[in-house]
Amino acid sequence: MRIVVKVGTSTLAHATGRLNVRHVEELVKVLSDLKNAGHEVLLVSSGAIGMGVGKLGLSARPADMPGKQAAAAVGQCELMYTYDKLFGEYNHTVAQILLTGDDLEHDDRRKNFENTLFRLLELGALPILNENDTMATAEIAVGDNDSLAAIVSTCAKADLLVLLSDIEGLYTADPRKDPNAKLIHTVERLTPQIMALGGGAGSSQGTGGMATKLSAAATCTSEGIDMVITNGAKPSVLYDIVEGKPIGTRFLGIKGEHNT
Ligand code: GLU
Repeated sequence: MRIVVKVGTSTLAHATGRLNVRHVEELVKVLSDLKNAGHEVLLVSSGAIGMGVGKLGLSARPADMPGKQAAAAVGQCELMYTYDKLFGEYNHTVAQILLTGDDLEHDDRRKNFENTLFRLLELGALPILNENDTMATAEIAVGDNDSLAAIVSTCAKADLLVLLSDIEGLYTADPRKDPNAKLIHTVERLTPQIMALGGGAGSSQGTGGMATKLSAAATCTSEGIDMVITNGAKPSVLYDIVEGKPIGTRFLGIKGEHNT
């Protein structure tokens, strides 16, 4: 199986912006093991801005664009240093790929990206992707890593995208406000009623919320790719997800011409 895992800032970093060592170590261990079991793994990792905030000792996430970009430039190094070190412990080699929305819209640049990606997979490396935040001002950015992960899954012809977040999945109502809200285990079709459940905001640390996750689901499922939203606090759930067990919310890829 070719699996894309997207991890959000709220899973990777504490509210201080400092690394959540336990979450990251567990994530790296499980992804290494999935690779050892013969799966191909790609990681879309947020956390550059959040970790830059911690490393620079800033009291809050910067509100202005150059501030965010500077924090991302610092935090991206910290992030890759951490992944390189931890995946290295399990003898896996990581590769960094930074993209903007603009890169993916130009056929020649997208092709270069895909060629690199497939060669990295052939070489047994584990690509780690993020938006190139230094370049990605609003006009040319993908903007959030849920959407980036969906586009990467399409380019990589993945079988499965897992979004690790700070929520369990998609609920029938906002679980923070409605005690009767129920987790939806399987979404077979993205109806207007399902899309309307994307109203709630995300966490204070990352960029995406439920709306960006539902739009990522639309991109993936239309290409025949299954997508799962689940809580990233226990990365070992990835084993069950890969086996198709009911964890979080699974959006079923539309089977047809795309994945025959
Ligand atoms: N590229 C941003 C970062 O690494 C994250 C964007 C997102 O969380 O959606 O901090």
